[in-house]
Amino acid sequence: MSVADLTIPLTNAPGVEMPLIGFGTWQVDHAAVAVAAAAGYRAFDSATSYHTERDVTSGLADEGLAPTDRFLTTKIWRTDMSDGGVRRAFHLSSRNFGVDTVDLLLIHWPQNAKSNLETWKAMEDLLDAGQVRAIGVSNFDAADLDALATGSDVVPAVNQIELHPRRQRKALVAENRQRGIVTTAYSPLGQGGPVLQDPELVAVAAQHDVTCAQVALRWLVQKGIVAIPRSSNPERIRQNIALDGFALDDGQMARIDSLPRQLAN
Ligand code: NAP
Repeated sequence: MSVADLTIPLTNAPGVEMPLIGFGTWQVDHAAVAVAAAAGYRAFDSATSYHTERDVTSGLADEGLAPTDRFLTTKIWRTDMSDGGVRRAFHLSSRNFGVDTVDLLLIHWPQNAKSNLETWKAMEDLLDAGQVRAIGVSNFDAADLDALATGSDVVPAVNQIELHPRRQRKALVAENRQRGIVTTAYSPLGQGGPVLQDPELVAVAAQHDVTCAQVALRWLVQKGIVAIPRSSNPERIRQNIALDGFALDDGQMARIDSLPRQLAN
């Protein structure tokens, strides 16, 4: 099976499977979404604060696809973190996407525990009403997850965090896993920064005749971590999902696993 078609079950949202590779839509337009759809991306990561929900739907339409043909994620921005705010924001998001049901809705950034919980409860209502298939969080640390658990039995299905070979977040990934939460890596290419010139990645990439971006993404997929790379360049959009035909062996995985944190971007 092609990596583009691989999914991971969301343990805390029984019956929902999420593609392991999705397309990040921060600062991209509908043309990039169309290229991504044609290249085989099965999931699209948006947020109300990106203003790209309509671009996702129109980009998919350019390729003859309906929004319901792909796994769609959006997020609740901090100014919408209240009971009424969630309802208003979700109404707009579902209208922008042109769907009745959104696959995954996340709290974009944690605020204080009270606000997180009020927001979460409103999202639980959307889940109960079948308007979202799964709910989750983003940028939550272990303390934020603990605080949420004191007021709710619904455990997030996903925690979307910044994660790439030079920022591995091992303790938080373990915390997520222990709670049955699937980790999604945002900025999986380190925003195109120095991680893509890392000598260890360069060496592994040369061994497989692929790029450092492909090595970084393959490393995430093999760890069972969802990755949502972004690009506006058609060639790179296609490259980032062309992850078949090579696999990192245990030694290569271990070499990347042991890379130190990159301090400056
Ligand atoms: P990213 O995907 O790590 O990197 C994107 C950058 O890398 C772009 O500048 C892109 O430039 C370049 N690039 C892409 N593919 C490349 C390749 N194969 N070789 C070399 N350079 C390449 O960064 P990101 O956009 O920060 O993260 C991805 C997605 O995660 C976002 O779009 C968004 O959906 C999500 N996100 C979520 C949060 C959150 O708080 N939850 C925060 C940040 C991001 P070109 O366009 O020129 O190719």
